[in-house]
Formats: sequence, C-alpha cells, structure tokens
Amino acid sequence: MKEALFWKDLPDKNVQCVLCPHRCVIFPGKKGFCKARANHSGVLVSESYGRVTSYAPDPIEKKPLYHFKPGSRVFSIGTYGCNLACDFCQNFEISQAESPPSVTFSPEEVVEAMRREDCSGIAYTYSEPLTWYEFVLDTSKINREDNIIVTNGYINEGPLEHLVPHIDAANVDVKGGSEFYRTLCHSPYKNVMETVRTLYDSGVHVEATNLIIPGHNDGEDDLRRLCSELVEVSPDIPLHFSRFFPHYRLTGVSPTPINTLDKAASIAKDAGVNYVYLGNVWERDTSTTCPSCGTKLLDRTGFSVRGPAFDGTCPQCGAKLYGVWK
Ligand code: SF4
Repeated sequence: MKEALFWKDLPDKNVQCVLCPHRCVIFPGKKGFCKARANHSGVLVSESYGRVTSYAPDPIEKKPLYHFKPGSRVFSIGTYGCNLACDFCQNFEISQAESPPSVTFSPEEVVEAMRREDCSGIAYTYSEPLTWYEFVLDTSKINREDNIIVTNGYINEGPLEHLVPHIDAANVDVKGGSEFYRTLCHSPYKNVMETVRTLYDSGVHVEATNLIIPGHNDGEDDLRRLCSELVEVSPDIPLHFSRFFPHYRLTGVSPTPINTLDKAASIAKDAGVNYVYLGNVWERDTSTTCPSCGTKLLDRTGFSVRGPAFDGTCPQCGAKLYGVWK
C-alpha cells in the first residue's frame, strides 16, 4: 500500500480522489469506484500498490502494438480493479475483484523480472494500469526502458501529464460515445480521444483500439465520428478494430460479424487513417503495408512477425512510416 497521489482533504476525514473523471468522494473506511483506492482514516491510499494478479512475457503484438519495436518481448504485469465497469469486460474476474491478490512485487522486482525474462520493456496491462497509478509511476522511473500502458485512457489531465514523461508507448481503448460510456461502462463520459492527443503530442508512441459491439457502437455514424476524431489527432495513429465475443454481462449479443469489421476498416481508410488492423479475427491479413505505395513491409500473422527487420522507411517509395522500429 502507498499513499495515493492526486486527492483532496474534505471535512470529517472524507477525501476526494481526483485521478479520474469519477472524482470519487470517499468516506473513512470506504473504497472508490475502482475498488483499488480507499480512505484510511482521512488519507487516500492505493491499496493495489504492488499487488499483482498476472504477469508473463508476451509478444508486443499481443498488446496490441504493431508499430513499436515489432517482434520484441515485453514483461506484462497487471493488478486488480478498474475505474470503468464495462458489461463486456474480458477480464472481469480481476477488473471487478473486491480485494487485493496475495502476490506482491516491488518496482525493483518487476524490473529484475523483466531482465530475467529477456524482455525489452514492461507492459502495464491485463487490468487498468491507471488504477495502480503510483506503482506504474514508481516502476517506470526505475525501468527507464520501454514502459508501455494498455489503458482505457480514463484519466484526468493533470495526473496524465505527470505520468507521460515516463511512458514510451500506449495502446488506448477508445470505446464509443457518451451513451456507450454511461450505459455499458456505468461511468460518466470522458472524451478519451483527449488522452490520445495528450500522449501523441507529448511524443509517446500511441495506437488505438476500438472493440466493435453489434448494436452498441457499430453504426456507420459512430465509426465515422471515431475515425475523424482520430485523424484530427493524427492520421498516422494505428487503429485496431477488435472483434467482440459475448462475455460477462453481455452474453446476449452475437460476435461481431467479420463484414462489420471489414466495413469499419473501409470507413477508417476513407476517413484518412493510414494504418488499420483487425484484431480477434484470424481470417484477415494483419501485415503492415506502406500507406503511400501499398508495398507489404512487415509480414505479420497473429502475434508473430516474419522476414527481415524493417527500419521504418519503405524501400519502394521512401515513405517514412509512423513508429519506433528498432
Ligand atoms: S481512480 Fe478510483 S477512486 Fe479515484 S476517482 Fe477514479 S474510480 Fe474513484
């Protein structure tokens, strides 16, 4: 446990957490919406600090990050709790857990494990890394190599700006519009594209993911809006459309039809997104092609890349591709 950053004293030993848009007011002895931060006698504490639910070396493509050191391995680590409560959560066993797991790591031990596993960096993933913000920050300060967050981007601007100098790459889950966040994530709306913009403008390598759920965010207008907002930040940010499968509280919805994903990819390309990928679907090519001349530059199947290392410049037309390639 560690005293949290970003909170305010209120009368009668109540506190307000200002890390994310929930801005929870927490009475003594109670927890915030994310279940990971609690009021201990008038002090906001990160109860998830160092509490680990899962860890493993992973291909970086699994995050997914396709334009950041392709073919490398990262040490993935996650905690419990989440500041959203999505009905479709794929990791609800840990994201909605009430109490901390018994496995603990110090920041130094995470860095040691990363090196022991011959990984090039650390991915804070599996559950929402922003709920153990202080642990991510402390570990990233020690690591100084590739610090990666796989995040819902649901964070207030001040805490994000404080974290950004220590982060090298991010995949941000951009879910949908205000109705989507209210009804399916049970949370007030925040325009997560603002998080994408802050990361991108700060020089962090960014990719975005959109899970397409039939009947909820698969309308052409929804997809066009999302793509044009992303292009406004940068047409170079890779966009991963991910296939939904029924899970948790959303078991009555069918898996996303493949032709819906194809339609989304076509909308994204029309909107000017330079790099569009389909995830959770094995029937489609996920190789990287040059946006200028169409040459295939990185042969990718599932989570593995084949062929010679790519240096970021198209040998055919000389175009420079967005990414960190070595
Ligand atoms: S991080 Fe947790 S405690 Fe803090 S405002 Fe968000 S949901 Fe509430």
